[in-house]
Amino acid sequence: MTWHERANTITPRTGLLIDGRFRSATESFEVIAPRNGKLVTEIAFANADDVNEAVSSARRAFEDGRWSKRAPSERKAVLMAWAELCRAHGDELALLMALEMGKPAHEAKSIEVRAVANTLAWFGEACDKILDEIPHTARDALALVTREPAGVVGAVVPWNFPLTMAAWKVAPALAAGCSVVLKPAENSPLSALRFAELGLEAGLPEGVLNVVNGHGHIAGKALGEHPDVDVLTFTGSTQVGRYFLEYAAQSNLKRVYLELGGKSANIIFPDADLDRAASTAAWSIFFNQGEMCTAGSRLLVHESIHDEVVARVSTIAAAMQPQDPFSDDAPMGAMVSKEHLERVESMVTTGRGDRAELIVGGERVNQESGGYYFPPTIFDHVAPEAYIAQEEIFGPVLSITTFSDDAEALRIANGTRYGLASAIWTQNLDRAVAMSRGLRVGMCWVNCYEEGDMTIPFGGVKESGFGRDKSLHALEKFFDLKSTWIQLSEPS
Ligand code: NAD
Repeated sequence: MTWHERANTITPRTGLLIDGRFRSATESFEVIAPRNGKLVTEIAFANADDVNEAVSSARRAFEDGRWSKRAPSERKAVLMAWAELCRAHGDELALLMALEMGKPAHEAKSIEVRAVANTLAWFGEACDKILDEIPHTARDALALVTREPAGVVGAVVPWNFPLTMAAWKVAPALAAGCSVVLKPAENSPLSALRFAELGLEAGLPEGVLNVVNGHGHIAGKALGEHPDVDVLTFTGSTQVGRYFLEYAAQSNLKRVYLELGGKSANIIFPDADLDRAASTAAWSIFFNQGEMCTAGSRLLVHESIHDEVVARVSTIAAAMQPQDPFSDDAPMGAMVSKEHLERVESMVTTGRGDRAELIVGGERVNQESGGYYFPPTIFDHVAPEAYIAQEEIFGPVLSITTFSDDAEALRIANGTRYGLASAIWTQNLDRAVAMSRGLRVGMCWVNCYEEGDMTIPFGGVKESGFGRDKSLHALEKFFDLKSTWIQLSEPS
């Protein structure tokens, strides 16, 4: 079956998922397919009362222990079963993501569904391997340091990797024993509902995972401000991250973890393997239509190899034209929405007037489809402080800047308010180590880009946020440490 044929076989869920049941809401929202600009369906959108109900449901589930007090091995079994169900329904989940946010369905399946299943399985496996501590004390006391599930977790996520981002929050929170209210992005409501439904099928008790689609400034805000949410974990823009800190300050001082924007530097030195460096540089910015927080949006090239690298990256870019996300070999799909496409276009227009040379792309394509397609776009000779070198575009737009020595490369790379990721291409070990030590980022890749598995923490520094997804560090966010000191009547 082709993706087009498969699309005719699915009827997406459209309600709010609260207390194990799908139900309607007083407000609704049109889901538009970025591939052709057509209406997919209308979806229930939560208001503050609906969010309140979801939080109450999560709280009830947490307090009565239907999940929080279950044996870790039982929680593990459910998460493992859920991972299997995601694999088994991989086509459907991939299709929903392609439909709602425009990424190629084949990539959604091979990359995102796989990542989601791995995340569930990895944190499922972790459930019964978490240990508490008994510090050495004097003999007249016994001290325990225990990890207690933190309670009700609000998870607010973006649309660019809708299910990976959801799984990175939901899986460790559930593994820790918490209950969750998930607020997906406006533009990716469908896949989240099916993902959660599969969780119920795998054995998640009702109320343990609730999904409230809705507007950020209504449903997201209600969750951020809710006095009964204990932990708020967020992935999205730096601006909205600031709001969540304010919501927490104005409500119950809930713990907030923020994974925010980026403007990552990909740095190529003359001693690099230029074939690999150039093809990876193109992939790092054009993959997922450039809608990637870790996108290698700033390519820093040593002046001696500038012409060679630019020629290679430009050739690859020209071959990566966006296509219908249902096409089996689409290297790129459609941008998430008309508004986002227009935002990218306007940033490109600003770039044109700002000391930079547009050498590839720059105009929207495939307009006859009714969809929102923007091609790989490259600006050369971009000043490090130029608008397009500083602002996150979140689209397939690359800025190329040259440098003359290592110190200058480091200065340019660090010269942004963001600190998410960076990559270095060199055969010189000393240089690689010195650069990676000097870069103020949360993630650093040497002779690769975006590599890593579930053992590696994911997150940034500076205005890219704090807190980590993936790895055992992600679990720590969802525990409270409890110290218990037991005074003994006699030393033993
Ligand atoms: P966004 O900040 O606009 O929205 C993210 C989420 O926040 C959505 O669910 C949205 O509904 C909600 N939201 C929006 N306004 C809100 C408000 N006033 N109060 C409460 N919630 C609100 O971001 P986006 O456009 O969905 O995603 C793109 C951004 O996400 C980019 O900046 C990107 O870099 C970032 N991102 C970061 C990472 C990371 O791990 N660091 C990963 C993916 C995406």
